[in-house]
Amino acid sequence: MGLVDKAIAWGGRNSPWIIHFNAGACNGCDIEVVDALTPRFDLERLGILQQGSPRHADVLVVTGAVTLQTRERLKEIYDQMSTPKFVVAVGTCACSGGIFDGCYCVTGGVDAVIPVDAYIPGCAVRPEAIIHAVDALLKAKLPKAAGRLKKDKKAKPDRKEDAAHDGAGNDQ
Ligand code: SF4
Repeated sequence: MGLVDKAIAWGGRNSPWIIHFNAGACNGCDIEVVDALTPRFDLERLGILQQGSPRHADVLVVTGAVTLQTRERLKEIYDQMSTPKFVVAVGTCACSGGIFDGCYCVTGGVDAVIPVDAYIPGCAVRPEAIIHAVDALLKAKLPKAAGRLKKDKKAKPDRKEDAAHDGAGNDQ
């Protein structure tokens, strides 16, 4: 493996970048993806960043059943991503078509169009489930990244200590 390849692999392990695509979701799962990325659940603390170009992304997060309108776009986005690349299907609709399966305009779940590495069922999916799936995916596919997640969890400040500080602040 050349130096550039090593640098790319190191970046992918330590800070995978994700791109989100709505293939036909009702918006419920999309809101949960946003919740996972924003400060309350904060996927970014694990080094996982969202950005807009498939050419820069390592992980494609897809919500919703795939429709005739989005099928080609989904395929194009997947093709534009460089390897190694991973796909996460978020929500029952993305996993199997869900309640929309069989509709005249729905082609099925994400794996009817592109290969899927992780499935997260649920309607809508909780942000905790999205974080758990991304963590499991990294452990399975990028073993060295798992060490980083472990370290990050250990480094997390103690909640009780935080509460004690808050309490002290409120008393003043
Ligand atoms: S799984 Fe539920 S919340 Fe998610 S896109 Fe389908 S219907 Fe909407």
